[in-house]
Amino acid sequence: MSNIRVRFAPSPTGNLHIGSARTALFNWLFARRMKGVFILRIEDTDELRSTDESTRAIFSALRWLGLDWDEGPVPEGGELGAYGPYFQGKRAGMGVYRKYSDQLMAQGMAYRCYCTPAELDEQRKRAQLEKRPPKYEGTCRHLTEAQCRDLEAQGRKPVIRFRMPDEGVTAWNDLIRGEVKFENKLLYDFIMVKASGYPTYNFACVIDDHLMEMSHIIRGDDHISNTPLQLLVYKALGWTPPEIAHLSMIHGPDGTKLSKRHGATDVQAYEAEGYLPAVIRNYLALLGWSTPDSQQLFTGPDLIEKFDIAGCQKNPAMFDPVKFKWMNGEYIRKLTPDELLDMAAPFLKKAGVGQNADRETLKKIVALEQEKYKLLGEIPSLVDFFFKDEAEFDPRAVEKVFKKPEAKKVLADMRERYLKLADFNDVSLEKEARDYAASASLKAGQVFHPLRVAVSGRTEGPTLFKMIEYLGRDAVSKRLERAAALCG
Ligand code: GLU
Repeated sequence: MSNIRVRFAPSPTGNLHIGSARTALFNWLFARRMKGVFILRIEDTDELRSTDESTRAIFSALRWLGLDWDEGPVPEGGELGAYGPYFQGKRAGMGVYRKYSDQLMAQGMAYRCYCTPAELDEQRKRAQLEKRPPKYEGTCRHLTEAQCRDLEAQGRKPVIRFRMPDEGVTAWNDLIRGEVKFENKLLYDFIMVKASGYPTYNFACVIDDHLMEMSHIIRGDDHISNTPLQLLVYKALGWTPPEIAHLSMIHGPDGTKLSKRHGATDVQAYEAEGYLPAVIRNYLALLGWSTPDSQQLFTGPDLIEKFDIAGCQKNPAMFDPVKFKWMNGEYIRKLTPDELLDMAAPFLKKAGVGQNADRETLKKIVALEQEKYKLLGEIPSLVDFFFKDEAEFDPRAVEKVFKKPEAKKVLADMRERYLKLADFNDVSLEKEARDYAASASLKAGQVFHPLRVAVSGRTEGPTLFKMIEYLGRDAVSKRLERAAALCG
């Protein structure tokens, strides 16, 4: 093991967003590549929005994506690693953060603030009118102990704010963006501890990243403006901060920040549509990172071997749903028939398709159109006609094919021939159809088209004679009979 320690630190306030999944992936890839440790920390300090349900959804999405963590909560109970607990809520309960807020207060780097939400609102409005950035005005910066007691006697509960330096610059050398600088006078005295006694993200994050000995912080660039605040807390506590890397923004195809307007944005929704976890890993890896030769498709170990922070770019990455789907099709094409069936199984089950078929038959049928699938979720509706008692006829197909003058006789004759055919396999089925066409002076298509519609109900689908073989003699005979009756 190297001394590389990185973390994914989600706030459990919903499903795993595609942007958060990318952050988790980049940390995981970096940890695996560097033989370091990948840590999961649950940042549940937002008492109103954090839920156990979201925590469970995050666990299961990470597991499904194959992003295993070396330290952190174990969904079945307990925790892995020696730096726990890995839930910030539990840590708060143990007084982990309190110790450091007391220390900063004692150093004069933090202070109690009694401003009410209404007063803060006033401040914001004033700033707006005067065209100043809406920044806390520092009303409580210089309260004496006696003033604090008076305010508390009025029933006010304090928050604790960090005292920002009035001048100077806070800068860091971002591993992706190079030097980033903020003027301290533009930063605000942020709240470290809420009135409830719970720490805020910016404070708890620093304490935990330090105590958990993180070597690198890799996170989305929506956190860039938090970084100077956090660096100043490190400084006030006399700690050395980890290396920092901010990943590029993710945009939708229209160039605006990826959001629900662009369609599904959480991993669970893509799982439900039938994306493969390996595809999500592959596709997300390319959002803000590339190899020098712009490789597009990666297998698991390949991705780990090639991943390098130096290949990350700062410009926004574009989430392209068309490319994502294309990639899923590419991966589906490469599955063995057994893998394909295993992956399709939950979708078939949910749709109630092929549940009475034996595995071998189901496997052959599902693999028939493997080339064509882009999503696992499409499979049930493409194969369901195999398992129904009768084909469901597409009215356009009926109009186009069954209304042909020769159709009725073709179907009746082919039924007779197929009932007598010795080997009911695709090769002899095709030969029989071609022989019949020749003997009846018809073009092959005049026989093939009605056959296809008769057995499947559609004008498009898998290879015709394989399809007939897998349907089996009985089903085919019944379907040809019924179809012949429909021809007029
Ligand atoms: N809880 C924060 C979030 O979900 C973590 C940010 C960070 O990685 O520091 O955005």
